[in-house]
Amino acid sequence: MFVKNLFSTIAAVSTPRGKGGIAVIRISGEDTAAVLEKVFMPKGTPLTERPYRTAVYGDIVKNGKVIDTGVCTLYAEGKSFTGELMAELSCHGGTYVTREVLEAVLEAGAEPAGPGEFTRRSFINGKLTLSEAEAVGRLIDADTKSKRELATGAVKGNLSAKLKSLDELLYDVMTALYAAIDYPEEDVGTEGEDRIYEVVCEVLEGLKKLSATYRTGKAVADGVKTVICGKPNAGKSSLYNALVGEDRAIVTDIAGTTRDTLEDTVDIGGVTLLLTDTAGLRDSDDTVEQIGVKRAKAKIEEAELVLCLFDMSENLSIEERAFVLEMEKSPKEKICVLNKSDLGASMKEEDKELLEKVFGKLVEISAKDLVGIEKLASEIAELYNSEKLAADSDAIIWDAMQKASLDRAAELLEEAKSALELYAPLDAVGVSCERALAEMRMVDGRDVSEDIIDGIFSRFCVGK
Ligand code: GDP
Repeated sequence: MFVKNLFSTIAAVSTPRGKGGIAVIRISGEDTAAVLEKVFMPKGTPLTERPYRTAVYGDIVKNGKVIDTGVCTLYAEGKSFTGELMAELSCHGGTYVTREVLEAVLEAGAEPAGPGEFTRRSFINGKLTLSEAEAVGRLIDADTKSKRELATGAVKGNLSAKLKSLDELLYDVMTALYAAIDYPEEDVGTEGEDRIYEVVCEVLEGLKKLSATYRTGKAVADGVKTVICGKPNAGKSSLYNALVGEDRAIVTDIAGTTRDTLEDTVDIGGVTLLLTDTAGLRDSDDTVEQIGVKRAKAKIEEAELVLCLFDMSENLSIEERAFVLEMEKSPKEKICVLNKSDLGASMKEEDKELLEKVFGKLVEISAKDLVGIEKLASEIAELYNSEKLAADSDAIIWDAMQKASLDRAAELLEEAKSALELYAPLDAVGVSCERALAEMRMVDGRDVSEDIIDGIFSRFCVGK
């Protein structure tokens, strides 16, 4: 990616495209004040002679003509989002007027900003770590409460603070190790070595714990591909609607009426479910329905979590017993849901025992009366540990690359730990610790390559 001269002054509309009450144009770089001098005319005292971070009202001018009035806030270098001298100029949010104001700003000497360039500068200037910068993008894109909480937590620096504390501990160990290596005559002694060992174990423990949060973080951030499956009339559409909270899937009592697949993103038990409603798993002569059944099987293949739904007021059919035995072999996450609890439990004991044997817990619900949905939600939460971790206050990772770096760091510290146990030369311990530290720093972007940084920021839109 083309990297701009860091000292160029950039501008872009930071509010969404389209009409709005106001639009905000961000300007960042050392010429921000000079650009504004040509475009923004406050009443009375010039903008630069007023205190920073003050909302100032004035005319917005293009080619010597007033095109709008607006409010401008100037942020001092080091005290802005980007870390540079920066301004936010609000104008009226009409599409045409916004475009003209941006043009005026560009004609006055600013360059158009690239995607994510404001956030990128913020990262380069040390205002945000890479995980915080990425979380800004996720916060903007968040479409559920849990995703928003996870992103807010990371923007606040929960993950970065945890990594920093582990980094500091390991850094201290390395200082002690290198002192011992460089000045062997000043023996670190067994006490020193014990302390080094203890800290290595502590950091290792911390890394493992953080790595283990991936399952939850991923389930929140990326979502879990989930299907509801069961025979026609088990209540799949009704459960789908109960989870989605609106009548999206058609519910009828004619078997096989859900012919296509629907998809929705829902926040259940603090986990993002990418929910698909499938046609019933039943052999069918109806061609339209057959397409549905084929798709349903494909969806189960693709799914990470299968909600296996049974009608508890009936015995299992032959197809259902076959399905249960198939699911027993399947490595996928699965939850057994018994529907129609309002009709009473008429399923024979033998069938229930089979379900218990294969699935462990059985969750009884009435999709029609919305009974037991909370129990199902806590079952899902337990599966993804989302109740034990607080998305907005715990350090949680969500990205496969973050996990890979943490796991490699942990492996290297395992090596360091074994080397210490075997009284191996301290040099070997030092090398492992140093490599572990470099891996840990990848998680937060301190040692990360330009490509990865480009990859993260290219996903942002212009103005962010
Ligand atoms: P699907 O074919 O598996 O999608 O099943 P539907 O959701 O279309 O439901 C089939 C029939 O069962 C409909 O008449 C629903 O009203 C009924 N049904 C669904 N859930 C329940 C429930 O919890 N209790 C009772 N009594 N009926 C239900």
